[in-house]
Amino acid sequence: MLRYDLHCHSTHSDGLLTPAAVAQRAAQRGVDVWALTDHDEVSGLAEARAAAESAGMRFVPGAELSVSWRDVTLHVVALGIDAECASLLAGLASIREGRSHRARRIADSLAAAGIPGAYEGAMKYVTSERLISRTHFARFLVETGHARETKECFKRFLVSGMPGHVEHEWATLTEALGWVHEAGGQAVLAHPARYKVDAPAMRELLAEFRDEGGDAIEVVSPSHTLEQTAEYARHARTFGLLASSGSDYHGPGEGWADLGDMPPLPAGLSPVWKDW
Ligand code: AMP
Ligand code: MN
Ligand code: MN
Ligand code: MN
Repeated sequence: MLRYDLHCHSTHSDGLLTPAAVAQRAAQRGVDVWALTDHDEVSGLAEARAAAESAGMRFVPGAELSVSWRDVTLHVVALGIDAECASLLAGLASIREGRSHRARRIADSLAAAGIPGAYEGAMKYVTSERLISRTHFARFLVETGHARETKECFKRFLVSGMPGHVEHEWATLTEALGWVHEAGGQAVLAHPARYKVDAPAMRELLAEFRDEGGDAIEVVSPSHTLEQTAEYARHARTFGLLASSGSDYHGPGEGWADLGDMPPLPAGLSPVWKDW
């Protein structure tokens, strides 16, 4: 059976390893089919493809798009995209521009809470001048002793009700699905159990995602407990969505899982790769 890892990050967004280094690590860890899915960015894909193919993996060009739906932020993983598609490129550029404005407001919010210099501090951790994320602020907060590890920053800072949190409008779901499909890709709702919505709203989200052309949901993710994996497997069947799997790897010592670490998809699901 082939091993798939269809969600991870490099230095072209908020990961710690270059695209080539992520590819080499994935291959060493036994991944056969691998996608790089940087946040709102495709600039790492050419390097990733070359490294993946020379390491003997099948490469799937991807990205993870930031979306606002009602009052929640969703992530949509795009798989199999044409990274030269003009509407996709323009859409991603507009999301990244929003990130830059948001970063200034995050820094203002931290300054108001007595933490000055956060914009410049976060910029020291930015590895692609095109993209700044809350992860870069988290690394600055750890460096300056405001938290012990980045995970803690997403409890005490940068989230709703805490210093460094600002409201932000990302792309709409309709826009994001449009760009992914114009680029010939498949759209996967990433780590669905992470969204803070109640059960009826989740069913509305899944129905709307499917009705607007969404293709799959990420059933297997280190963000999910075993119970949540089973729950989203049921949702995939109920809503007629394909199932995907990805580690969401960001680098050594970051996050929950390493490349290729995930268990197989639960039985009875149609995988997002069924026609690849
Ligand atoms: P942004 O897209 O800039 O709002 O930043 C979101 C990123 O922050 C995610 O892609 C993760 O890399 C990181 N992140 C979010 N929540 C957590 C958490 N609880 N622990 C560690 N990293 C997190
Ligand atoms: Mn990230
Ligand atoms: Mn995500
Ligand atoms: Mn991710």
